[in-house]
Amino acid sequence: MQSLFDLSLEELTEILAGWGEPRYRARQIWAWAYRRGATEFEGMTDLPKSLRVRLAQTFTLSTLRLIAERVSSDGWTRKWLFALPDGTQIEAVLMEYTDRRTACVSTQAGCAMGCAFCATGQMGLLRNLTTGEIIEQVLWVGRWLASRGERLTHVVFMGMGEPLANYGNTAKALRLLIHPDGFRFGQRRITVSTVGIVPGIRRFAQEGWEVNLAISLHAATDDLRNRLVPINRIYPLQMLMAAARDYVERTRRRLTCEWVMIHGVNDTMEQANALVEWIRGMLGTSAVGHLVHVNLIPLNPTPGFPGEASPPARIEAFRRTLEKARIPCTVRVRRGIDVAAGCGQLRAEITGRKPLLAVPF
Ligand code: SAH
Ligand code: SF4
Repeated sequence: MQSLFDLSLEELTEILAGWGEPRYRARQIWAWAYRRGATEFEGMTDLPKSLRVRLAQTFTLSTLRLIAERVSSDGWTRKWLFALPDGTQIEAVLMEYTDRRTACVSTQAGCAMGCAFCATGQMGLLRNLTTGEIIEQVLWVGRWLASRGERLTHVVFMGMGEPLANYGNTAKALRLLIHPDGFRFGQRRITVSTVGIVPGIRRFAQEGWEVNLAISLHAATDDLRNRLVPINRIYPLQMLMAAARDYVERTRRRLTCEWVMIHGVNDTMEQANALVEWIRGMLGTSAVGHLVHVNLIPLNPTPGFPGEASPPARIEAFRRTLEKARIPCTVRVRRGIDVAAGCGQLRAEITGRKPLLAVPF
């Protein structure tokens, strides 16, 4: 059955018009579905009974079936494993900080990009998620928080999969989440993280959004990046950094560069200095000072990668090198590792296919 969350307001209005319903009905239904937490049509009491029945026969509001919930020992990170109607399994995570309630959602079941250190990459791509499947994860977390009198404050597209390799469905989900008649979520409170798919970044830059973008860089020489992030062979650093610079120039939005710290691999001074050079190159050609921010992420363990997290002293040395070059840099707090909900650890308990390197455009 089709998910109501796959449809834009125009598409729903069109269908309802075909049923002889007035135009305002679509907005009424959206208010229930996106903002009043409805999970079935029956409870939409301001709609005629016959319409509720027809909607329920045609659309679904809940495609996610909860399979398991795990909570980190500190209680601040919660991971849900869901089954989709075809049996595919995906995960979504809630991370609570003092004043932040962040949902981390998946855009694909698995991932084709094959990054060596990432659990999702190690399982390969099963399939893209639909717009509705992406949106429902956000609504799920929102409802969970609401039932405790709390509110979702941030959404990050950093779960399973590469958002820009599923561009159409990810972009549509974003549009519906920020839509004033939809979920009404603040654009600046959303971050999309990409491994560096250049045509996707260029397209993203033209959307006219204020949604944040993060690029998973992890290495500042093509040699090393080719090994850690195989998509670099298709979109090498020169091409990626040019797209990143154009993105910042065009949108004037701050760009985050993510860097997983792997002991003895990419945490060297040579890499730190090369990173400084790339960012200087970006800043030098335009007035984009302070619009680039580096986020260092200590490696979380995954079954398929032998590397270890850099020790704190090396992370600090790396950070200081950037700081001396006046590049803002923060170290991400490790969270949820005991429930395998840390960065890159999301992996449904299914036998995935071997990673394959697909060109998504
Ligand atoms: N595919 C996108 C978004 C999902 S991954 C991307 O790669 O950006 C979200 C973040 O987790 C990325 O920065 C990714 O590099 C990082 N990550 C992956 N595996 C990790 C691991 N084992 N430890 C720490 N971070 C990891
Ligand atoms: Fe895919 Fe991102 Fe994992 Fe790379 S780090 S395999 S792009 S999910």
